[in-house]
Amino acid sequence: MTRINSRIRTVLGSTTLAITARAKALKAEGKDVVNFAAGEPDFDTPDHIKTAAVEAINTGFTKYTPSSGAEDLRLAIAAKLKRDNGLDYKAGEIVVGCGAKHAIFNAIMVLCDEGDEVIIPAPYWVSYPEMVKLAGATPKFVMTRREDGLRITPQALEKAITPKTRVLILNSPSNPTGMVYSRKELEAIAQVCLKKDIWVISDDIYEKLIYTNEPFTSIGSLNKDIFQRTITVNGVSKAYAMTGWRIGYAAGPAEVMGYMKNLQDHSTSNPTSISQKASLAALNAPEDGVKKMCQTFKARRDLMTSLVDGIPQISYIKPDGAFYLFCDFSKFGPCADVAKRILDEMSVAVIPGDGFGAEGWIRLSFSTSEERIREGINRIRTWAGKNI
Ligand code: PMP
Ligand code: GLU
Repeated sequence: MTRINSRIRTVLGSTTLAITARAKALKAEGKDVVNFAAGEPDFDTPDHIKTAAVEAINTGFTKYTPSSGAEDLRLAIAAKLKRDNGLDYKAGEIVVGCGAKHAIFNAIMVLCDEGDEVIIPAPYWVSYPEMVKLAGATPKFVMTRREDGLRITPQALEKAITPKTRVLILNSPSNPTGMVYSRKELEAIAQVCLKKDIWVISDDIYEKLIYTNEPFTSIGSLNKDIFQRTITVNGVSKAYAMTGWRIGYAAGPAEVMGYMKNLQDHSTSNPTSISQKASLAALNAPEDGVKKMCQTFKARRDLMTSLVDGIPQISYIKPDGAFYLFCDFSKFGPCADVAKRILDEMSVAVIPGDGFGAEGWIRLSFSTSEERIREGINRIRTWAGKNI
């Protein structure tokens, strides 16, 4: 057997990407698959963004840019972070990468060393633990409780912190639960992080998709001290339906960002120049389209929850953000088997919760039309009725 790098060897493939690819392949074969696996908006990228990309090609903006991203884009990101989040970053404190995934990966690589621990509240997005392992650090999972709405409490956080703890990864709104931390909850979490002197990586990628009236809070905006211990991550994938364009970014203290830039210098160099121009257009345009998309998602969430209410064997946590309904399917057995059977027997693609650190749960994405939501939940109801 070929000898493989010991860190890479421990890394698991992504369940979200694998099942999404399988659902797309079945669809291409002509199968009538309902796709509740999708981790991306089903909307097309808006025209003004596409036009900016075409213009970038036609005007020759097709060469290397600075590896941390073109100056105009970093200025637009700084303006966005100020305008939307009350965060005061300079362009030099921002590194643009190939998606928020890349930005989080680089932040973990730069902050963590062999032997460090990284706190990951569970359920979590599939990629965090694997990124931590790639940095040689150890993921330390803190299982959240249903009665806390699957949120980490300051008490649970403090209990999990050891002298080896380096970073807390926060994701609000959350993939896979749709949970959103309130400002008050974040204040309590920030206090613990400051007391214990640990860093926060704040994954804000679903910021624009919130269905309550409380405005989104990014933890770094709470006070100067937590600002200096936070790497804020965001991107254009979810807000502007631009998942394939691969632009995300991290913002944080200049020293850390300098090392993130160096890492990019020797790995990816700059993210695609054309996508950078498209992202600039996305960030500088009025947000009407984003708001409309958010309203559509809210209506779909309400539809999906009301339909699942009609299936007594399945319960869920009502999501306040993102586009996922996280459901307890534990009555039906191991969730990997359940997801496989629902796809094989009913042609509905869903993501099992084990990859998110939540055995027994299933993630249903409502990033599809109301008609498909009705059809898919109908099929799941039929399946549930036969299998209990
Ligand atoms: N964080 C979370 C929680 C996500 O769900 C995703 C979606 N893939 C990302 C980060 C990364 O998004 P992207 O790399 O497309 O910007
Ligand atoms: N974030 C999305 C998901 O969780 C996209 C797939 C991925 O990158 O993991 O499904």
